[in-house]
Amino acid sequence: MAALPPVSEEVFETKRQDMASANASAMSEVLYKCHCCNKSFKTLEQLNEHKKSKKHKKAEKEYLAKNPQASKSSMFSSLNHTNRSEISNLS
Ligand SMILES: [Zn+2]
Repeated sequence: MAALPPVSEEVFETKRQDMASANASAMSEVLYKCHCCNKSFKTLEQLNEHKKSKKHKKAEKEYLAKNPQASKSSMFSSLNHTNRSEISNLS
């Protein structure tokens, strides 16, 4: 038993963190983005809720002030390029 190499808590902790971050990146699948606020959302519902928030409305005004040519549709984007066409229906 005395010959066992020391297994440090540190190594174990690092492995655990690696796994946690791998999980986190899998969880953070982002489908919708609000460019005014630089925020990302996983669902259209979340984006729509966000659009109702005062914070967003303020950011939207500032965004339009800075980007006069920007259209409302350019504020939001869908990052899933396969079959998420709902984004074009946002007004
Ligand atoms: Zn926003």
